[in-house]
Amino acid sequence: MFEAKDFFDLGLKFHGHKCPAMPLGLKAACAAMNALGVERSKDKELMLLAETADNHAMGCFVDGLMTVTGCTYGKSNIKKLYYGKMAFTLIDTKSKKAVRVSLKPKFVDKMLTESPFIAERKKGIPPQDVDPKITDPLIEKVLNLKEEDFLDISPVFDYDFKKIPGVMEADFCDVCGEAVYIDKLKFIDGKQVCIPCSDKIAQK
Ligand SMILES: [Zn+2]
Ligand SMILES: [Zn+2]
Repeated sequence: MFEAKDFFDLGLKFHGHKCPAMPLGLKAACAAMNALGVERSKDKELMLLAETADNHAMGCFVDGLMTVTGCTYGKSNIKKLYYGKMAFTLIDTKSKKAVRVSLKPKFVDKMLTESPFIAERKKGIPPQDVDPKITDPLIEKVLNLKEEDFLDISPVFDYDFKKIPGVMEADFCDVCGEAVYIDKLKFIDGKQVCIPCSDKIAQK
């Protein structure tokens, strides 16, 4: 069984500051892992589709998800869908089963309007400078939340996952000379060029 507390130190080191949203991600990810009955992703066994976007409060949630699931941007097994929702789908690519986990609507609303941490953030205080007397009890509270009090966990469902083969070859851009993975090379006027060089050619 996955337990958020077991991942807190790793999550904090990775994330960089104490806040309630990262541990919320740890908790939500553990719920998804336990629902699917899977192990942390060593390679691309799992795929995570996060419905969050950029620059939204509680976006730190996703670092908690990455910490527990092993779905990382380096391995390309996490994608943001930019819906602006505190929700995600975790897919087991082997069994082609998935689960969607979301924060309960009222819980999201309560966090945004009543959390003393968010109140400090609204004043423009960086997360690492919020008084630990505010942050620490909130983290403790999050780590002890009961899943049914803040999470909606879908039944496990079938997910038709299509595997994309890895690209192992690169070739040189005829303009800047840098190595580019071949699927990203563009062909213009008999030259093979990288995207920035092709943009410069297009601007001329
Ligand atoms: Zn954070
Ligand atoms: Zn180039």
